[in-house]
Amino acid sequence: MTLDSKIPKGPLKDKWTDYKNKINLVNPANKRHIDIIVVGTGLAGGSASATLAELGYNVKTFCYQDSPRRAHSIAAQGGINAAKNYQGDGDSTYRLFYDTVKGGDYRSREANVYRLAEVSANIIDQCVAQGVPFARDYGGLLDNRSFGGVLVSRTFYAKGQTGQQLLLGAYSAMNRQIARGKIEMFNRHEMLDLVIVNGKARGIIARNLVTGEIERHSAHAVVIASGGYGNVYFLSTNAMGSNVTAAWKVHKKGAFFANPCFTQIHPTCIPRSGDYQSKLTLMSESLRNDGRIWVPKNLVDAKLIRERKKKPTELSEDERDYFLERRYPAFGNLVPRDVASRAAKERCDAGFGVNATGEAVYLDFAASFERYGTEQAKIHNLVNPSKEKIIELGQEIVRAKYGNLFQMYEKIIDENPYETPMMIYPAVHYTMGGVWVDYNLMTTIPGCYAIGEANFSEHGANRLGASALMQGLADGYFVLPYTIGDYLADDIRTGKIPTNTPEFDEAEKSVKDRIDFLINNKGTHSVDYYHKKLGKIMWDKCGMSRNEAGLKEAIEEISELRKDFWKNVSVPGSDKQFNEELAKAGRVADFLELGELFAKDALEREESAGGHFREEYQTPEGEAQRRKEFQYVAAWEYKGEPKDAVLHKEILEYENIEVKERSYK
Ligand SMILES: Cc1cc2nc3c(=O)[nH]c(=O)nc-3n(C[C@H](O)[C@H](O)[C@H](O)COP(=O)(O)OP(=O)(O)OC[C@H]3O[C@@H](n4cnc5c(N)ncnc54)[C@H](O)[C@@H]3O)c2cc1C
Repeated sequence: MTLDSKIPKGPLKDKWTDYKNKINLVNPANKRHIDIIVVGTGLAGGSASATLAELGYNVKTFCYQDSPRRAHSIAAQGGINAAKNYQGDGDSTYRLFYDTVKGGDYRSREANVYRLAEVSANIIDQCVAQGVPFARDYGGLLDNRSFGGVLVSRTFYAKGQTGQQLLLGAYSAMNRQIARGKIEMFNRHEMLDLVIVNGKARGIIARNLVTGEIERHSAHAVVIASGGYGNVYFLSTNAMGSNVTAAWKVHKKGAFFANPCFTQIHPTCIPRSGDYQSKLTLMSESLRNDGRIWVPKNLVDAKLIRERKKKPTELSEDERDYFLERRYPAFGNLVPRDVASRAAKERCDAGFGVNATGEAVYLDFAASFERYGTEQAKIHNLVNPSKEKIIELGQEIVRAKYGNLFQMYEKIIDENPYETPMMIYPAVHYTMGGVWVDYNLMTTIPGCYAIGEANFSEHGANRLGASALMQGLADGYFVLPYTIGDYLADDIRTGKIPTNTPEFDEAEKSVKDRIDFLINNKGTHSVDYYHKKLGKIMWDKCGMSRNEAGLKEAIEEISELRKDFWKNVSVPGSDKQFNEELAKAGRVADFLELGELFAKDALEREESAGGHFREEYQTPEGEAQRRKEFQYVAAWEYKGEPKDAVLHKEILEYENIEVKERSYK
């Protein structure tokens, strides 16, 4: 099969506008004859459902939670990007496009990214109109902060709860349509297969998670908005329920999967405490605006701190290594996530880690307390304030900005981050890979679309902070509602899609057979036993550091584990009731298949990209190869934007790589 991305011709900046002007439309009176299934109610699925229903389509929306507003998007903390240039600091559509392509290690599809940057400003207007309470400055204007990998402040935020507030906006828009009957909402329903009729996606098989009933649902198009699959690693910052099932089912029915091994390892997460943990917690990247990342300069201090014989606050400035500021002075602590994660891992691997497992670095706010406190003392005309007073004033400012994050940290670690620096370590956070889509966001199955984190998206090998919410809402509010019409224009006379057909029979049977097997197997191991084992293989062999031998082992081990799962898994309870173990079993079975594809993709990719290192490149020959790669990246940069390539120049200089202008092939 040849992949056709359907990128419109013409200059990058005109593509989307020209395309929209010429695309097929479905007239308002005909939209009511067309049904669309949306799987997912996060920011992508929620915004798409609301908009498609507002346009007049009949929408059926599914989620496995008890309410659309419990989708994982609710967890997003830090913010959402948009090229509004409210700060007047040089932002523009082009700069957001450029940052995103550069941040993604030049592996994103540029036409999609440009469109994303173009519609980003509309998202903020849309959400403000819905009443989303974005942070505002003293004068009442929308406030911004900065995220990694950029030199401007373009991140809109609602304290540390941006996802929740945006989701409430999308949910209210959905609710209006639910009340009008334009959205039929199926809470606590899990899509377990895609139904294809005559080569087109025409429906799904879903399980009612409360009663266990298997249901058939038909439509003229199916939209997958089921989120990311970071939980393939078992431990991640994702919600416990986040899974790959819907995306995997469409893949198994013929939709291509792109870049499965591109996973984002977020630098600022609460470190793992031991082997009996089922969840990792993110500390928002926004904290890197004010926190400084460091480890002890001397191994001896690191050891004493690990043994709790010394406190971090006892180390003088000279005894600390602010390694990001040292290596990348222009971006400092706000380098992109992949760069920050790799640097933290490198320091910990070299023995400078600061917690018991040796896998933690500090995120320290002491300098910010002092900086903000001094400013506040001036504002309040305090003459000769004491150091304690300054710190107190500074802490108030930090509390107002990030109070809930500090509170969360203290609850989990039981240490006061106002007194002792936070400890952080990289953790699995987001999956750039996903279902392959063309410019219309259609998969390789006609009529089956993928939006939000579920698709392989615009983020290349590394997503910049605050860009996932932007992409999900761009897809749902502003892109899919146009592009889906182009396909559905052929369906205005098709009529209802029947569900009593052999295609539905067959899909339903395979779903039922699998459930019967899982519930009746009564093996010896729990579902979590397999999930944990898979996660360990994934982290050890397909994590940040990868090598050929390890990846080959991973492929073997995952395949063996999968065989064992289908022999020995045990699922308690029945399939005629709410049974979370059964739902989890199905999801883990799909992770066990995805994991293998993931490792195969990583093996094929003879490159270091995003947060992933191929260790072979650490040998002299490998290093030469790696250098070539950096030069390749640099060549692109230096050709297009000679003056703006500060970050990569710093990386290149640090790694002692000669920077030359070269032609880009
Ligand atoms: C802790 C954390 C903080 C983050 N902070 C930020 C941030 O500040 N800024 C930013 O831009 N990004 C952030 N991200 C990333 C961002 O939150 C996600 O990428 C984004 O919310 C994904 O949205 P989505 O709509 O694609 O999927 P989700 O929000 O994951 O929604 C998936 C939906 O699909 C449904 N679903 C899944 N499978 C099925 C199935 N088989 N059947 C039926 N329904 C199904 C679920 O019920 C759910 O409704 C953060 C991520 C994490 C983990």
